[in-house]
Amino acid sequence: MANVLFTNVRIFDGTGASPYPGEVLIQGRRIARVARSTRALPTSGVVSIDGSGATLMPGLVEAHTHFSWNDQPTLNAIQRMPTEEHILWCAHIAKRYLDMGWTSCVGAATAKPRLDVVIRNAIESGQIPGPRYLAASQEITVPGGLGDETLPHLPYPEFSFGAIVNGPEEMRKTVRMFLKYGVDTVKLNLSGEYIAGIPAEFTPMTDEEIAVAVKEATVRGKRVSAHARSAEAVKQCVRHGIEIIYHASFADEEALDLLEARKDRHFVAPGLAWLINTSYHAAEWGIPPETAKAMGYHRELEIACQTLKTMHACGIRVLPGGDYGFAWIKHGTNAKDLEYFVKYLGFTPMEALLSATRLGGQIMLKGNELGQVKEGYLADLLLVDGDPLANITLLQDEKRLVAIMKDGEFHKDPRAGAARRVRLPAA
Ligand SMILES: [Zn+2]
Repeated sequence: MANVLFTNVRIFDGTGASPYPGEVLIQGRRIARVARSTRALPTSGVVSIDGSGATLMPGLVEAHTHFSWNDQPTLNAIQRMPTEEHILWCAHIAKRYLDMGWTSCVGAATAKPRLDVVIRNAIESGQIPGPRYLAASQEITVPGGLGDETLPHLPYPEFSFGAIVNGPEEMRKTVRMFLKYGVDTVKLNLSGEYIAGIPAEFTPMTDEEIAVAVKEATVRGKRVSAHARSAEAVKQCVRHGIEIIYHASFADEEALDLLEARKDRHFVAPGLAWLINTSYHAAEWGIPPETAKAMGYHRELEIACQTLKTMHACGIRVLPGGDYGFAWIKHGTNAKDLEYFVKYLGFTPMEALLSATRLGGQIMLKGNELGQVKEGYLADLLLVDGDPLANITLLQDEKRLVAIMKDGEFHKDPRAGAARRVRLPAA
């Protein structure tokens, strides 16, 4: 692999510093040098890329990814996809994330037991292109909880996207099965979800069941994540040390206090796109705004925005991404979350970008080597035509991603084809 020198770039380094002009040298998988001036680094023996003033920044990290959601309008449609088609779909989608600048993704549950693990392994072995990936289990749930799609006369677990357990011993058995398969995270469904006909504030899993899941995962050095919309579910996450909290819409004062006290331990990835677009942009698929409102989504969106603003103000780590893979929030459009963080949660564009980069490195368990443009860090980089701090929506436009590098190798090479048109950002 040739060493690469990016010259004439504006560096957004993910530390919180304002972008500065400079040069970045990549050697092997890592960033070897970051220079704060131009023509500072030797050009002999390297592939030199003139960025023409484009922004060089860390690759984006998606904190709440479901490769196996299949861009359809229902949960049912996910489950009915046969396994063979499903694994090909996941491979196709993994590439899509990389195409859109997401160089790392945290798996947040898979629809069939081994899809995530197989895809992660195929990416790591170089069999298929894809982001760095942390593979998840299926969503573990209890009868009547989110993910239990069985019917009284059709009691077949294959109909469910969740793995249904009853009591601590069944939990232990199921968690151990997923750990045997090689998951990085065990996912628990601690609250409901309106679209599944289960109130978001319903919290059906017992502390005994959760404790067993956390214990088994921890013994093998793995993490637990949770679908936790209700206040009680968020409190369960803090009580049991469930590091990754998805949604957290209805976290009340007590839940927020608990979370704030342990903010170095937890990550919150709310999946705002789901609430916004299910509320207002799903009419074409049979959910007009009045239906979404009747389900409870308008109220949840309003409360979630307040809750998340408070979390952000308290310094709780809130990360972008989440639940893309439905007809009205298709895979690959995930950078909308950065726009939503600014528009709905009052993040500055700088804060939104840091949540997708520096905090992303942390949720990937690589905070000291991923998510920043720093010497010694892994070379996961984007070269963006324009300034994402001036216009956060730039990152939604594939054409603006002039180069995409993961682990020191180009996924999108700026020297190839259309990508050659690098323009100087407007003064
Ligand atoms: Zn999810």
